[in-house]
Amino acid sequence: MTRAPAGGRTPPPTPGPAPGTAAPAWRGLLEEGRRDGRLRHVEVLPERAGERADWPAWADPEVVAALERGTGGRPWRHQVLAAEAVHAGRSTVLAAGTASGKSLAFQLPLLTELRRPAGDGSGRGATALYLAPTKALAADQDARLRALGLDRPLTSTYDGDTPPELRRWVRRNASLVLTNVDMLHRSVLPGHEHWAPFLRRLRFVVVDECHTYRGVFGSHAAAVLRRLRRLADRYGAEPVFVLASATVAEPATTARRLTGVEVHAVTEDTSARPPVSVALWEPPRRRAPAGGTAEPGGERAEGGEQRTATAETADLLAGLVARGVRTLAFVRSRAGAESVAAGARRRLLEDAPHLATAVLAYRGGYLPEERRELEEGLRSGRVLGMASTRALELGVDVAGLDAVLIAGWPGTRASFRQQLGRAGRRGRPALGVFVPRDDPLDTYLVHHPEALFGVDVEATVLDPSNAYVLAPHLAAAAQELPLSEADLELFGPAARDVLDLLVARGLLRRRARGWFRTRPERASDLTDLRGAGGTVRVVESGTGRVLGTVEASAADSAVHAGAVHVHQGRSYVVDELDLTGGVALVHAETPEHTTHARSRSEVRVLAVDESAAHGPLTVCRGVVEATSRVTGFLRRRAGTGQVLGEEPLDLPERRLRTRAVWWSLRDEVAEDAVGGVRARLPGALHAAEHAAIGLLPLLATCDRWDLGGLSTALHPDTGLPTVFVHDAVPGGAGFSDRGHQRLREWLGATRDAVDACRCAAGCPACVQSPKCGNGNEPLDKAGAVAVLGAVVAALDAGGAPAS
Ligand SMILES: [Zn+2]
Ligand SMILES: [Zn+2]
Repeated sequence: MTRAPAGGRTPPPTPGPAPGTAAPAWRGLLEEGRRDGRLRHVEVLPERAGERADWPAWADPEVVAALERGTGGRPWRHQVLAAEAVHAGRSTVLAAGTASGKSLAFQLPLLTELRRPAGDGSGRGATALYLAPTKALAADQDARLRALGLDRPLTSTYDGDTPPELRRWVRRNASLVLTNVDMLHRSVLPGHEHWAPFLRRLRFVVVDECHTYRGVFGSHAAAVLRRLRRLADRYGAEPVFVLASATVAEPATTARRLTGVEVHAVTEDTSARPPVSVALWEPPRRRAPAGGTAEPGGERAEGGEQRTATAETADLLAGLVARGVRTLAFVRSRAGAESVAAGARRRLLEDAPHLATAVLAYRGGYLPEERRELEEGLRSGRVLGMASTRALELGVDVAGLDAVLIAGWPGTRASFRQQLGRAGRRGRPALGVFVPRDDPLDTYLVHHPEALFGVDVEATVLDPSNAYVLAPHLAAAAQELPLSEADLELFGPAARDVLDLLVARGLLRRRARGWFRTRPERASDLTDLRGAGGTVRVVESGTGRVLGTVEASAADSAVHAGAVHVHQGRSYVVDELDLTGGVALVHAETPEHTTHARSRSEVRVLAVDESAAHGPLTVCRGVVEATSRVTGFLRRRAGTGQVLGEEPLDLPERRLRTRAVWWSLRDEVAEDAVGGVRARLPGALHAAEHAAIGLLPLLATCDRWDLGGLSTALHPDTGLPTVFVHDAVPGGAGFSDRGHQRLREWLGATRDAVDACRCAAGCPACVQSPKCGNGNEPLDKAGAVAVLGAVVAALDAGGAPAS
């Protein structure tokens, strides 16, 4: 039953046109956008009729009946193809669109197999693990399984909130355990003796939303899955892996890298889909005042400042809700989602007041029943508009929307497609709108639809042999069961060196039968899968309230003493940063200024893995040590950006050993590019470095915060003008290697993006960086275009290096 919403009665939404009979209600909005120039491009993703298949003969009839009740008919053909492969014992990855029924493809073989009693009649037969990237998704999958109403198999979630008595019950009785890699790492694998009966029967391991295991987290997950395989093998089990994702490039390769086993890929999507019109929508720029520089913000003013993506999205959301279109807006931050919802409600109060209560913000962190109620509200049409963070991107059941708005590039084409996939009710044409922020990649994409459509999603970059990741997992594995020579193969070629290092440090001991853990403390505590190096808590001095956390690596620049720290729209000033205690003490205050950390950094080349000359250009990849120290901060007047003063800070030096790509140009070629004025080189290279970091996420699943860089007109190790781009995590994550592999494409797109930007002398949409330690100085936009042009010309003349 539809309940009345809190805060007032909402009339039923204006009914949309029946399928195929009239233009959809959102059509008018696109026409308006076309008239005033905001609509840059519309791409129509065509309708797909869908292709059904018969239920396999081996499937348990009760499972079939239950699944059929939920889906209303026979399965799609791709579901059956994947289910058949899994049933035949082949590890399989299913890559098919959002809402294409990937769950059914693994539920069918798993439930059929798990319902069979043990051969000896002892009750529990085969067992399975389901791994989700988050607790919420595991809970959702569990709820869906329970909703099937089957008496067997017994399923249960197992996470940090599971109480001890229930944990015991789960280990002894559950056949299907829904958990995550963090729990495997911290609890299941170190306590494997307690799990022996479960592991002995382990038949399947499902890795859902497998594209989320990327970068350093992906490398951790790969190590955890290898530890699981090793233990399962000792207990005599060899589980079949089942992976699923709506958006993963090269699924077989990615799945093999993650699990270490050969994986069969099912990539065809045979589900029915309505047509989706995807609009690229550019917010207008504010007109520059006469005379150009009178506008606050100096150089940005000449090109006019772009209206924010959140303000523009709020208006679009209001416009769609007023037309009765069920719309979900994805916004990058929680505060942004609140602001989009509030903005849309304000607009509706003017235009269609009776609809203002039908717009909500989805903040995440809700209880399951609260979330269920919101989802139900969207489905029934009681809620017409919702602004959400990425919390609703995965798994959660909010199909049945007419439109999706995407405020700001979500980081990857994979996410972009996941979010778009939320739009589309059966048989009704759907709308997707991308609204860029003032950022190089966003701006590039809105002007280059070919980079969004008709190309595959980014490769999921992860490196299972990263020594920094491998070390704590090998220590943990040795504590779980002594590591033998034969085990090394499982962990890859880097494992032996890492073990030697662990022995040298006294963390492991080598004996005749292999490597042993000699220390009593738990090795699994040595590493945290989700963060590289811990966090700093931000605490309000007066109340002791913990406002949030900041990555330790970012604390020096974000919460140093005197920093203005904005948390959920409220402003605080930092009194003290205690690095040993991992605490930043703050008090609420809204000063008239903002702060910007200044830092000094250096990059030293430690090892060159590959070097190629292309005429005047040399391109390398390898290992570097990046050293940086936050030296002080600037106070700038809020609004105008005018510098009010600089204060020094005494913070320690940070060293990061990681992987990098770098390129150097011969002096005379670099100088020629900037009109023979050598003094322009630092600004040109610096601007090229910023823009290149902004564009690398086009090719690898990372964002600019995962990367660092350095540019200099004379680097001591190369003796030449050089630009470095490096991974921002110890040991590297594969991002800069990916850039090296696709260098021509990457730097070509970078040059085009800077060249096409309509600003006069550099703006956040091209060469300015939000995390520059030099306060975005010097920057030479035209010089960057010229230098990048010289680099691209050299690559084209000399041929791209073999990848
Ligand atoms: Zn610009
Ligand atoms: Zn910079």
